[in-house]
Amino acid sequence: MPTIIPTTPKSIILKRNYADGWFLEKYAMNIYRGCQHACEYCDGRSERYYLDLDIGSKIYIKVNAPELVKKGLRKKEKGIVAVGGGIGDSYQPLEKKYEVTRKVLEVIKELNFPIFILTKSSLVERDIDLIKEINEQNLALVAFSITSLDEDVWKTWEPRASPPEERFRVIGKFSQIGVPTGLVMMPTLPFISDSTESIEKLVSRAKEEGASFVIAGGLTLRDRQKNYYYQKLQENYPELVLKYNQICSEHGYHANEEYNQKLNEIVLQACRKYEIPLRIPHKVFHGKIEVKDEVSHVLQQIGYLLDIIGKRGSAYRKAANQIFKTTQDITKLTKEGRITEIPGIGEKIGKVIEEIIQTGESEYYLKLMKL
Ligand code: SF4
Repeated sequence: MPTIIPTTPKSIILKRNYADGWFLEKYAMNIYRGCQHACEYCDGRSERYYLDLDIGSKIYIKVNAPELVKKGLRKKEKGIVAVGGGIGDSYQPLEKKYEVTRKVLEVIKELNFPIFILTKSSLVERDIDLIKEINEQNLALVAFSITSLDEDVWKTWEPRASPPEERFRVIGKFSQIGVPTGLVMMPTLPFISDSTESIEKLVSRAKEEGASFVIAGGLTLRDRQKNYYYQKLQENYPELVLKYNQICSEHGYHANEEYNQKLNEIVLQACRKYEIPLRIPHKVFHGKIEVKDEVSHVLQQIGYLLDIIGKRGSAYRKAANQIFKTTQDITKLTKEGRITEIPGIGEKIGKVIEEIIQTGESEYYLKLMKL
């Protein structure tokens, strides 16, 4: 049993200052610091998060989270709230007793904000009625992070999270009641869970369970977390150490470009094969969030899709951040033909913005989604 440390911080809501093309979040929070799942690859072990290397041994619970969320969101502009973060699953076993995440959801429902939940635990099923209500009044996205269906792999790397099939079952349950769900393949472990076969198995199961999207991301390895990961690799897959050294630079924390491109290609092909969108599709959040956020997320996704197919998407990503940050009324600017006054918005991107605002869609985005 971990040491439980109840805490009462002064604030919990963190406002993003860039457009998040992954989970569309505008606000983030960590209800728990530390995680009983203690996945062996978790980057919560990195020095930047100030947690113990054994991230499951001591868990800080922000017991006043519901009040802080109420205070922190009350006067804020609407936007997607990510319930739980990367250094503590909001549905780790302790949540069963403490119910802090549930109380946070009750506050968010009262304040009428949309949410994004990412978890590795089927305990989220406990709150299905509340999440359904949030989805009906606004938008609730429920995503499960799943690395592999191979028993040897998940039992080695994430043995304390709910078994992957259990997570898929809950994806199915949420999908059936109309809550948009997704599979988050994050991290994909190089040479362990990154084969076409492994990825296709996950994507096809997601499709079978009615998931609305797939999000994929590679492994990050930083400072002491990198050492910890390498130790596990040495213990369980010693033959892979050399291959890791070849794709990971000494100083960077991601695999190299060549590796990432191959991985992106495999993921893209799997999503095409099983006809499931890569990233949260526009139709899921259209009309459910602020126009400014909607436009910036579509631009971010165009940038991402261009990158994936080997074109440069940086102009779209920069434009997305500008739109996300601007305090100007973009609908008014568009009507007045002045959207290009925002730095980083040229004629071409300006036309895409205009189309989204006028029609609720972007032909260019839809075309890229089909490529
Ligand atoms: S569930 Fe997430 S936060 Fe918890 S240990 Fe695993 S990767 Fe880290």
